[in-house]
Amino acid sequence: MAVPLFTLARQNQPLREELLQTFEKVLDSGMYILGEEVTQFEAELAQANGLSPEQVIGVSSGTDALLLALMTMDLGPGDEVICPSFSFFATAGGIARVGAKPVFADVCPVCFNLDPDSFAAAITPRTKAVIPVHLFGQCAEMDRINEIARDHGIMVLEDAAQALSARYREKPAGTMGDFGAFSFFPTKNLGGFGDGGALFVRDPDLARKARLLRVHGGYPKYYHSLVGGNFRLDALQAALLRVKLPHLAGFSAARAAHAEAYHEALLAEDRVFVPGEGQCHCLNDFSDSRQEPSQRKLWLPLAYQHNDCIWNQFTILVDGPGAATGEARDNLLAYLRENNIGAEIYYPVPLHQQECFASSEKPELPIADSLAARCLSLPIFPEMTAQERNEVIQTLLSWLHQN
Ligand SMILES: *Cc1c(COP(=O)(O)O)cnc(C)c1O
Repeated sequence: MAVPLFTLARQNQPLREELLQTFEKVLDSGMYILGEEVTQFEAELAQANGLSPEQVIGVSSGTDALLLALMTMDLGPGDEVICPSFSFFATAGGIARVGAKPVFADVCPVCFNLDPDSFAAAITPRTKAVIPVHLFGQCAEMDRINEIARDHGIMVLEDAAQALSARYREKPAGTMGDFGAFSFFPTKNLGGFGDGGALFVRDPDLARKARLLRVHGGYPKYYHSLVGGNFRLDALQAALLRVKLPHLAGFSAARAAHAEAYHEALLAEDRVFVPGEGQCHCLNDFSDSRQEPSQRKLWLPLAYQHNDCIWNQFTILVDGPGAATGEARDNLLAYLRENNIGAEIYYPVPLHQQECFASSEKPELPIADSLAARCLSLPIFPEMTAQERNEVIQTLLSWLHQN
């Protein structure tokens, strides 16, 4: 049985009638840019995250949400922004696009998110902001990150593109820093019908400024005190996302059930582990036992008890001989694909190793390098059936028994 990494058709099929009616409504309205649908969508997102509607700004993509936040902070040449090296490219791309310098920090070997100690060590007098990423649906260690940022007068922009509705100690992702950036790219937990995003802004004055920059900084129209861009969300996109938003909690619950089932089936095997609960590198002085040679073959991802993880990805690490070079992981990836199981590497090259950042001095970030060589993401889309999930598990087990 072939199992895709994800499929959107199954998610959207049951909503087909409602989506088509919504499309017709927007078609007939003749209003295609911003407008009432976007305003309503912003209000609903705000409500779901305990914010006021003014603090939520619908934008054209997650990438543009990040860029808009950095422009709102007036960052540019001479400024430094710290971000984790193990993330999607857009986290660092926005920093470079405003002319500031991305400074890469290492990540936690357990939760894969920004290591607060590495962040603190990367701070210089030029550091203006930090971008913690809530990777794969689990929040970074925000209490410590916020504390370090506050002590140094640094702004915090949460890259919550993969974490809409995830929580850290009861607090929603994207509401703990000065800014929170979200994406509705079709494969995110709230997946749209093309590109879309949102920016949460804590300070009302900065929120007003970001809203202006979304439309070229013009207010009143054609009078520009600021240089912004076109970062607008389409009315159609907002209207269709409003159909899906009430289902987000259900999607995330289905993903969590898959994660639990993976844990239950796979942890029964020798050589399959999760890092011990409470052993967070972010909070404790935790030496990464995964760096030691061992009989361990697969590490499953851990969601901390203090986090509500939304499992945008279920990312395992492949260990054992050949792990450091990526050979072991590539071997499992090839095996899964031969057996028609969808799997993908998020992300194969850490940001500090990307060619476009080669001119900056290259920091030593051993955990980011190690994760990039070992990581492999498995199917965890909400609509996956129990039979499909079992097929993934059986295929993993047969690989384990041969290796
Ligand atoms: C998807 C993603 C983005 C960019 O979002 P787009 O909507 O695709 O522009 C940024 N950061 C992270 C961590 C992402 O996963």
